[in-house]
Amino acid sequence: MLIVMEKGAAAAEVDAVVAAIEARGYGARPIPGGERVSIGVLYNDGPVDASLFLGLAGVKDAVAITRPYKLVSREFKAEDTVVNVSGVPVGNGFMTIIGGPCSIESETQALTIARHVKQAGALIFRGGAFKPRTSPYSFQGLGEEGLKILAKVKEQFDLPVVTEAMDCETFDLVETYADLIQIGARNMQNFSLLKRASQAHKPILLKRGMAATIDEWLMAAEYILEGGNPDVILCERGVRTFAHHSRNTLDLSAVAVVRKESHLPIIVDPSHAAGKRDQVIPLSRAAVAVPAHGLIVEVHHEPEKALSDGAQALYPDQFESLCRQVQSLFELLGRQSE
Ligand code: PEP
Ligand code: MN
Repeated sequence: MLIVMEKGAAAAEVDAVVAAIEARGYGARPIPGGERVSIGVLYNDGPVDASLFLGLAGVKDAVAITRPYKLVSREFKAEDTVVNVSGVPVGNGFMTIIGGPCSIESETQALTIARHVKQAGALIFRGGAFKPRTSPYSFQGLGEEGLKILAKVKEQFDLPVVTEAMDCETFDLVETYADLIQIGARNMQNFSLLKRASQAHKPILLKRGMAATIDEWLMAAEYILEGGNPDVILCERGVRTFAHHSRNTLDLSAVAVVRKESHLPIIVDPSHAAGKRDQVIPLSRAAVAVPAHGLIVEVHHEPEKALSDGAQALYPDQFESLCRQVQSLFELLGRQSE
């Protein structure tokens, strides 16, 4: 249930409603809005009796929540959330492009690619230091050394960085270096990791599991908000289907549904969806039109030598073209798409 306060309700009235909710053994979560405060009722097993709260001073309405997820839902918070990634906004009204290699392979590799993506217009740099690989024989990432290289990229190019935290053991380390912490598709329902992410002081990029429903994905995001971290960006990266013309199938309808169901920003990863570089620009154009709030794209200056995901990495000039196309589309669609 969501208790909606009158416009201009006094702080003392909000406190009294919170106290009344807690007195019933529920949790109360005030959600400041543009016009009025709402208070979410959490941890109820069954339906909540609205009459308990409707008579309290400053209460306008009590609305039953129909979805299993609460804090991430539009029912709880109508306005879009814009997540601040070390000064770069991701969310409604913005088209934020993230670019960089799949893995950080060396300082020279990372700095070379960073120079290209910055020049092309990317606002955040991506690069994995801890890599979840299907085969134990594949390159596993440089670990802490990779994080240190990311720190150099950040310093030299003034670009916030996103990198993946694969487990709770290395989460602290990743949190020290990352501006945005990625939870990968394979870990979307790693509940210990989600709980750790909920305690982080950095925003989280939560990728959709490759066989996850939208409800499961939003419930995973709910873990992070419930634990106290409101800054979650969702990322659609393709789901597994019978198709083999691409690595995964980019589910753009998920973007439209998530935008309706949730106030959280959602970006698209066309690279892992496609698996092949020639599909990345077309899928990016489509993602902008849905509209997603941004893109995360793999780029490599020597993809034939890449230690992971070379086949889907764009060459720098292709990435530059992608940024130009996306920017013009974003301007063309403008306000009509919101
Ligand atoms: C990645 O971003 O390099 C990655 C491994 O992504 P995903 O978890 O979506 O497969
Ligand atoms: Mn990759």
